[in-house]
Amino acid sequence: MTEKCIFCEILAGKAEASFVYRDEAVAAFMDIQPVNPGHVLVVPVRHTAMLSELNEEDGMQMFRVAQRVAAAVRATSKLPSAGVKCEGVNFFLADGRAAGQEVWHVHLHVFPRFAGDGHHMRFSPNYFKPSTRQDIEQTAEKLREVW
Ligand SMILES: [Zn+2]
Repeated sequence: MTEKCIFCEILAGKAEASFVYRDEAVAAFMDIQPVNPGHVLVVPVRHTAMLSELNEEDGMQMFRVAQRVAAAVRATSKLPSAGVKCEGVNFFLADGRAAGQEVWHVHLHVFPRFAGDGHHMRFSPNYFKPSTRQDIEQTAEKLREVW
């Protein structure tokens, strides 16, 4: 655990959070700045700054818990006393500063989406220039080389 890691403080009970789930490896608690109500963060219990440092077992458990969170968010949207509005679910994990990571403890965002919620992904103009089959295959080859 690092001194100023807010997620480690939450996991140690030194900072407030609303937990949804916790086991030995993974915890899930509400994001304090939700994209939409029902936004949950899934984190490894052991402090791990980057995805590349996360052991695969914890990574698998994170995804397993995230699937359950998504199912719970969808389920609450069907309750008579409407829980959260949910027509779809996004998973988002920022690994590294360039990817938008701001808290240096791995976390997977799980949040409900619905038509007209006002959130969008923006792509650079490069996205709309189609890649050639050759470019795509060359990139795949490079990835296979370092696998
Ligand atoms: Zn931490």
